[in-house]
Amino acid sequence: MNAKKHLRLVAQHALLNSLCALTLFVAPLAQAGGASGLKPTSKPTVSLVFAGDSVLDADAGELVARGGDPYASFANYFADADIRITNLECVVATTGSAGDKMFTFRAHPRVIPVLQRHFDAVALANNHSGDFGPAAFAEMLDLLQSAGLAQVGGGMNLRQAHTPLVFERKGLRIAVLSYDEFQPRSFEANHHRPGVAWSEDERVVADIRAARRVHRADLVIPIMHWGWENEPVANARQRQLARRMVQAGADAVIGGHPHVTQDIERYRGKPIVYSVGNFIMKETDNANQRIGWVLRLDLDRRGVVRLGTRVVRIDMAGIPTLDTSAPSPCWRRGATALHNCSMHDTSSEPPQ
Ligand SMILES: [Zn+2]
Repeated sequence: MNAKKHLRLVAQHALLNSLCALTLFVAPLAQAGGASGLKPTSKPTVSLVFAGDSVLDADAGELVARGGDPYASFANYFADADIRITNLECVVATTGSAGDKMFTFRAHPRVIPVLQRHFDAVALANNHSGDFGPAAFAEMLDLLQSAGLAQVGGGMNLRQAHTPLVFERKGLRIAVLSYDEFQPRSFEANHHRPGVAWSEDERVVADIRAARRVHRADLVIPIMHWGWENEPVANARQRQLARRMVQAGADAVIGGHPHVTQDIERYRGKPIVYSVGNFIMKETDNANQRIGWVLRLDLDRRGVVRLGTRVVRIDMAGIPTLDTSAPSPCWRRGATALHNCSMHDTSSEPPQ
């Protein structure tokens, strides 16, 4: 991209972001009273935290090699949650050779204990986990399994890649699925090849239904890798598939890949977070790519009770810091609009 076009894109993005922020934050002041007026539930909720794209090679990898922890700023935020997941946007392996792509990411296996410190699982269905070929992908599956760190969206074959990861917490069974639909499709698992789950609509719908019927899940949450990079709002394709997933029984949809945050929609009362943006990402080429969200969903048997976000600030080396003072969107069941977390909601506060 040339510099002029790049600047124009950044400017357009900044403008759209402000417009989105207005849409997000102007309406809810009237809604907030209704939201805070909800009766507190006596039943315990299960909290699920999701961090966006984590690329653990380059500076983040070197930080780990020196004994550092690129997730350190979020340690308390993650520790407070019942289920913690990040999208692992690289392969973790020592083998394989880089595919014919502009960017290829491979992290050293020493990052696994760091991931294990903060997360219960990693989502693997994305456009970089296959960067070093199926053998390196299989090595990663093996390393994760040996370490006891769960994964979703990847497998030694197609069936495994589409198998939901089910968490049982406080009597609730929560199934998570993970799909990629950003090229190359060659990273997809087939009947004999390790790889990721591709978001073929019919298959996604069948997986969501099977999560309830076969795997006895109370709730189903698909994690999507989709959308166009640098677009501040979701496109028609994302919206169409998200609605289809909710119709099939998804209780929330969590998205990523565009490198920037996108809008949050409610459909049939279910929240769709189209993109949480980057988390650990060195390859950023504009300021919007260095601001993401960490997402928290509080869940009960009926779905999402509360949705909270916190702003993630990413430095030029790709390392994130939690910003507790910046405004970001929150939502409570029953509210017709989002509101500003820092003003009306404490559900996404990290513990003191
Ligand atoms: Zn991606």
